[in-house]
Amino acid sequence: MSYAVPVYQIPTLDVAGRAERYPVRRIYTIGRNYAAHATETGLGAGHSVPGISLKPADSILLSGGRLAYPPATAQLEPEVEMVVAIGRGGAKISPESALGHVFGYAVGFDVIRRDVLADCIKNQHSWDLCKSFSGASPVSPIRPASEIGHPAGGAIWIKVNGEERQRGDLSELIWNVAEILARISSYERLEPGDIVFTGTPKGPKPVKRGDALHGHVAGVGDLHVAIV
Ligand code: MN
Repeated sequence: MSYAVPVYQIPTLDVAGRAERYPVRRIYTIGRNYAAHATETGLGAGHSVPGISLKPADSILLSGGRLAYPPATAQLEPEVEMVVAIGRGGAKISPESALGHVFGYAVGFDVIRRDVLADCIKNQHSWDLCKSFSGASPVSPIRPASEIGHPAGGAIWIKVNGEERQRGDLSELIWNVAEILARISSYERLEPGDIVFTGTPKGPKPVKRGDALHGHVAGVGDLHVAIV
């Protein structure tokens, strides 16, 4: 087969301790899933359903990578989040069976143009441009659930240049992983390769060129990114 334009290279993630790689299909992000952060957004907590948005798969950046400060923003903010990687597809998944669809877990930064997000909200536009740029989705190597289980508690934090910026605990998630997967799959079949950012604790703050970011989720791993 020949192609009219160069073929897109599927982004892949490392799988800790294995030579095989994890191909990324779609990136879902869950909004306002820790009560303290939901309150500071000004939009409030206590919504009856989780907010769901998408990022392009080609925004993946591997741990140890360099994130080029994107254009059209002066307020770039990484949100540290636990990432769920789907291993087995399914539609209308029940919360009771949802964890059986998980391949593993990783540490991610849901990097956002916060000023663009604010403009989009003000103008009632969609949020896509705030989350869609090269390097917007750094993700650590995946730890398979067959090795670490399904983390439901433990520290999640990000340090910038060694200084702590955000800290929370996975037990504070408003909607847990099983509920999130059930919700997404009620709209669209989840497929192997889909990954889900599960939300961030309070306190995301802007970063600048030259900053060194270190994210951590207890029992899952570490993520290192340089802003250039
Ligand atoms: Mn987020």
